Amino acid sequence: MLCPRCVQGEVVKVRIIANDTCLFVCQECEASWFLYEDIGVKAFVDYGTYMEGLGLKPLWSELQIIPE
Ligand SMILES: [Zn+2]
Repeated sequence: MLCPRCVQGEVVKVRIIANDTCLFVCQECEASWFLYEDIGVKAFVDYGTYMEGLGLKPLWSELQIIPE
């Protein structure tokens, strides 16, 4: 799905390896949503801010991309 925030990146489903949580993240601007239904409907969470809040590094290497 095309990111509704930046309209440039692709939103992909990922798993945060450290806590086994699934998230939908834009590969371009890193806007994130917890639920697929929320994308473009509810406010996004910034991926970096979210990860730092968990005490994790905001890196793509912390994620595993889940193919749809
Ligand atoms: Zn985006």
